Amino acid sequence: MPLYPYRCENGHDHDHFYWMTAERPASIPCPTCTAPSIRVFTTNAVQDDFPEHYNVSLGCVVKNRQHMRQLQKERGCHDWEPIKDSSLTEKQRKGGNW
Ligand SMILES: [Zn+2]
Repeated sequence: MPLYPYRCENGHDHDHFYWMTAERPASIPCPTCTAPSIRVFTTNAVQDDFPEHYNVSLGCVVKNRQHMRQLQKERGCHDWEPIKDSSLTEKQRKGGNW
């Protein structure tokens, strides 16, 4: 069952589970403060479908794949270099379907 991390405007992190067939809202109310929360991704977890999301590694919202490339170029990052994220579990690294 996929796990989707969300972060609200006030920086509260919380996770939501969705069944494969369930709709995955782009924004949900924060359970702590009810502010809008958006899905959080790390660079190496983003799959082929490339929804707008807050990218933790880049520290900003990425609108699409092209935008991601642009941001990486601006920051002098080499493209598609896997970024080690020690906060990810081994299971998430290996293929979370999120
Ligand atoms: Zn909050």
